[in-house]
Amino acid sequence: MSTLLIRGGRLIDPASGRDEQGDVLIENGRVRAAGGSLSVDGAEVVEAAGCIVAPGFIDLHAHLREPGFEQKGTIATETEAALRGGFTTVCAMPNTEPAPDTAPAVEGLMQIVAQDARVRVLPVGSTTMGRAGKQLAALSELAEAGVVAISDDGTPVEGGHLMRNALSLAGALGLVLAEHCDEPSLSGKGSMHEGAVSERLGLAGQPTAAESAAIARNIELCELTGGRLHIMHVTAARSVELVARAKERGLPVTCEVTPSHLFLTDEAVAGNDATPAYDTSAKVNPPLRTEEDRLALLAGVNSGVIDAIATDHAPHAPEEKLWEFDQAPFGISCVETALATVMTLVSRGELELGAALRALTQGPAETFTLGDHVAGIGTLAAGAPADVTVFDPVERWTVDASRFASKGKNTPLAGLELQGRVRAVVAEGQLRHAVEAAHV
Ligand SMILES: [Zn+2]
Repeated sequence: MSTLLIRGGRLIDPASGRDEQGDVLIENGRVRAAGGSLSVDGAEVVEAAGCIVAPGFIDLHAHLREPGFEQKGTIATETEAALRGGFTTVCAMPNTEPAPDTAPAVEGLMQIVAQDARVRVLPVGSTTMGRAGKQLAALSELAEAGVVAISDDGTPVEGGHLMRNALSLAGALGLVLAEHCDEPSLSGKGSMHEGAVSERLGLAGQPTAAESAAIARNIELCELTGGRLHIMHVTAARSVELVARAKERGLPVTCEVTPSHLFLTDEAVAGNDATPAYDTSAKVNPPLRTEEDRLALLAGVNSGVIDAIATDHAPHAPEEKLWEFDQAPFGISCVETALATVMTLVSRGELELGAALRALTQGPAETFTLGDHVAGIGTLAAGAPADVTVFDPVERWTVDASRFASKGKNTPLAGLELQGRVRAVVAEGQLRHAVEAAHV
């Protein structure tokens, strides 16, 4: 196999506490050495001067849409999008048709992955059969089939008793239960955050309590059962506070936040000079909240209470987002803008660089204990799988959705200038993506 030398970058590897100038040498699909000045005759060279060299990003939460919703996205298109965004590992959410609720369904998905995927895809099984929230999926069968977590994402597990059983059984099998925490009787038909902006726009809102009440219940059930609970896409200050308290008590609780919720507030729905009001590309579930919430999410990443930045990448076919605001589907296509969103926040002093990179690498790897599936994932230590993302931290570029590899052009960031651009990505030992530096 080929030898690859990534030369002259700033290595930042949160898992090994490293931040220094140096090279990375890749051989036979593994990191052979990292740090200092390295050279090998005949190696293919990736010049990384002026760039940050980090472990390939890991996305705990992406909707790849296949099988079943290929008009929105396919394994091929959405993993190409992930690759361009710097993600070398993607956990595939289970709201597909069929849902991955049995071993054969997971195997069917992994057959498409083997053929088409541009990055490593790790399957997340569904918590209940058909994600219908009635009866538990074949969890032990799913664990054996290699799922890295279980989730009914998009729909919460409503019944407390069912959730108790799910956490109990998942815990016994060593699986994390990743939950979209929502109390449907409170969120109702709300299409955005319930607050001043929803009132102004005359849209039905989802109160913060719909999320925090569900988180509180699920933390109680985590304590009761000892099962590992991962709270997906926290959006509210109150939610971060609940997770912080649960962690202080030593409970096996983790959580993630999306780049969209770190960057935007419910004001995005009201539009601005560039985008019209009732912008459906800003419709996401759970919804964009207030500035106070956004600041709490940023603080949560910086302090480590929030374990991972996960995209919740949710591509839709363009015509679907043309529906009226309350009819349009929820979701943002964001895997290709995630890094730039994060780096723009770093440039503003809102996010700390080290904490942000930890939340894209080591944090997610530990959250789903991905090392049990892919030994050494999430670091640049010698012997680790060669997944490396090289990015220019200062290059500025304007978001143009028509240039996305994703089928989903649904971004509320269109036309915005962001900072930070992926330059080269090594995935599973291969240089799969490389772009020339704009300023050279
Ligand atoms: Zn969700």
